[in-house]
Amino acid sequence: MLLQHISSKEYERDQELRPSASGNDEQHLHSLAYSSRYATTEIPKYELPDKSCEPSTAYQLVHDELDLDGLPAMNLASFVHTWMEPEAEKLVMENISKNLADVDEYPATVRIQGRCVSILGNLWHAKKAVGTPTVGSSEAVMLGGLAMKKMWQAKRKAQGKGIHHPNIVFGNNAQVALEKFARYFDVEARMIPVSEDSQHCLDIHKAIEACDENTIGMFVIMGSTYTGHFEDVKGMSKLLDDLQERTGIDIPIHVDGASGGFIAPFAFPELEWDFRLPRVVSINTSGHKFGLSYAGIGWVLWRSEEVLPKELVFELHYLGGTEFTFNLNFSRPACFMISQYYNFIRLGKEGYTRIVENDLVNARLFSKALEGSTYFDVLSDMHRPEGTFGWRHPPAKQKKSAKGVKYNPALPVVVFKLTDAFQRQYPHVKQAAISTLLRTKGWIVPNYPLPCNEENIEILRVVVRESLTRDMLDRLIDDIMDCTNKLKCLETQLDVGVFAPLEHYGEAPRTSKRVSRSIDDKKHKIKKAKTYARTC
Ligand SMILES: *Cc1c(COP(=O)(O)O)cnc(C)c1O
Repeated sequence: MLLQHISSKEYERDQELRPSASGNDEQHLHSLAYSSRYATTEIPKYELPDKSCEPSTAYQLVHDELDLDGLPAMNLASFVHTWMEPEAEKLVMENISKNLADVDEYPATVRIQGRCVSILGNLWHAKKAVGTPTVGSSEAVMLGGLAMKKMWQAKRKAQGKGIHHPNIVFGNNAQVALEKFARYFDVEARMIPVSEDSQHCLDIHKAIEACDENTIGMFVIMGSTYTGHFEDVKGMSKLLDDLQERTGIDIPIHVDGASGGFIAPFAFPELEWDFRLPRVVSINTSGHKFGLSYAGIGWVLWRSEEVLPKELVFELHYLGGTEFTFNLNFSRPACFMISQYYNFIRLGKEGYTRIVENDLVNARLFSKALEGSTYFDVLSDMHRPEGTFGWRHPPAKQKKSAKGVKYNPALPVVVFKLTDAFQRQYPHVKQAAISTLLRTKGWIVPNYPLPCNEENIEILRVVVRESLTRDMLDRLIDDIMDCTNKLKCLETQLDVGVFAPLEHYGEAPRTSKRVSRSIDDKKHKIKKAKTYARTC
């Protein structure tokens, strides 16, 4: 076949006459991510693009940018779980479009959440608990705090006393959610400074002094995010019993078991911190931490309906009957609650116990390796024999008894810092730089100061989750030593070059508007003189 050549000029004229043809052609180009216009021009990411593009193009562009994120499995900064079995993921995907609020439409899902509340109630030794799934512990803490505030107000009203100056007592090692509760719901936060003597968590003797007739309750943390320590719920409860006997003031405890709620029942079953203590009115936990689901599920339970103020409970009428709800979010994903139920029936007590014990064994091994290096002090105490605390004492020699060593109950969290001797000898080595260098090897290990009062001490923290296996730990300790040794040998500070934004080098003249855009997403970040830095 003889074919006629069509010149470019002709083609352009043709295009002008038939705009739809040009549209098709553009579509074709769009379907290939790297030949689309977005390969060389910016994505209009700050306003809705005028035109649509092919799904494969959009996917590839978003996917590629997200490759810049760290790997979740190597994110040792987070308590939030990052691995589930394929069967759990299958259930998540099968149910990803279900809204947990649609009770009429998804009766089987409703039944499952009820069973999860029962399972947790039994695990925490409740007799007749009531509870609800939440998006996470943050929402759960708000609900626990609100219930205590309303109960206090009702009691004060009945006594003809003022209800406008409520306060709540907790350690200043608390996770930000606890402080948020106080600020959002107008409750004075009486934060007790932590110290080395109180193992960097709530000092129960100072806490009791902060209590008065306006105290709505106490937040006691099972698993401080700073050190992994369990606060002394039983000791606090006893002191509050004494206070009530002396003064008649009756102060309830809400336990923040975001992490510990799933560790203590399996690894330290004899520890009394839960509904076995009558003063504990409510407990929250994060299903997405050691509950072993993905981000999006938490729980809060009250010991009985009597400690849940009626005015907070909403009665919603559905075709299928009446539902009682108490939560902040209406719509929320059902799939993570479903994966929680999967974990419960799949793992059982046996599975959870094995995983939690493995985490603790690995965390202890890692702690001992750090101490053995002589570079680091370990501030967490989970590797020390029961009753032995603090890094200032030399590591205890453990005598192996027939029963084996009993260790301090705590989360599998390893908190460490360079020794004072190391810092004196190599003052140019900054702990933060170890964290930065580890990042080049893929590890995410945060470095941050202890809470106010002890903020001159910086700590590195590793959360040992189930995916941090023995072999991975071997690599981690090697890499920590390697990074520290490299910094030791480096006498001068590294120079960091300064780059102009890509816009600056482009061919086409740019308007000032576009140049300012190239500052990129940083400009979405709010700069505020005084924000509150908190670990999470
Ligand atoms: C993680 C955490 C929270 C907040 O929980 P989310 O599930 O992240 O909302 C509160 N308290 C403690 C002790 C935590 O570890």
